[in-house]
Amino acid sequence: MALSAVDVALWDLKARLLDLPLVRLLPAYHDRVPVYGSGGFTNYSLDRLAGQLTGWAEQGIPRLKLKTSREPERDPRRLDAVRRAVGDEPELFTDANGALARKEALYWARRFHEEWDVRWFEEPVGSPDVAGLRMLRDRAPERLEIAAGEYAYTARDFVDLVDGPAVDCLQADVTRCGGITGLLEVAGLSAAQHLDLSAHCAPAISAHAFCAVRRLRHLEYFHDHVRIEDLLFEGTLSPDGGALRPDTVRPGLGLEFKWADAERYRAYGTRPA
Ligand SMILES: [Mg+2]
Repeated sequence: MALSAVDVALWDLKARLLDLPLVRLLPAYHDRVPVYGSGGFTNYSLDRLAGQLTGWAEQGIPRLKLKTSREPERDPRRLDAVRRAVGDEPELFTDANGALARKEALYWARRFHEEWDVRWFEEPVGSPDVAGLRMLRDRAPERLEIAAGEYAYTARDFVDLVDGPAVDCLQADVTRCGGITGLLEVAGLSAAQHLDLSAHCAPAISAHAFCAVRRLRHLEYFHDHVRIEDLLFEGTLSPDGGALRPDTVRPGLGLEFKWADAERYRAYGTRPA
């Protein structure tokens, strides 16, 4: 992750030195990245959960994700509340963060899809359980995609997921997989295995980086990262028509660090001159 941070910073610097927005420096296939609203934590009240997902739907985001499976017996009520609030139209995604055992995950995969028309089940079992993911990919309902990849760091980790393959849609996090240089390798792997690639979080960086992913699916517009990016950076992006469009005027990633606002979080060192 430290290497990813340095890699992203170097790409940003190169683009700034060339006075280009980063997306123009990369071999871009797209000019925008579709997003899905993501949050829906399991400790939210039903009202807060439904309100958060409704908020994204009202912003024109047609795909919504909530966390599930920490206490599986509570999920039916949570999913009922969400469907009641957002209606039948938005696609619903779920993320178990690897909380379930294999057969338990298969049981919930069927219920999620049949009862709430869930279309995406992320990390139903833990990512290291590649055989479990593959079993679920093969046996879950056809219109429910199994996704994983946020905990893949090296090309080898991604080969394990796409070989077989163990997922219907691969995920990658540009701040974990070796930065933009690593992401371009992952993009090649996913294309070679005919799999779409979805961006995990870091929306301000991912909006540029994933325009260079030919088999781009979408980007996780994650509640907490959106909040932190806004807190610390000027120049962050807001979804428009369900997508983030990288700024093509400002150089690099188009971001400026808010030194004054960040000062109270300083752990050590001094502000650069
Ligand atoms: Mg996840």
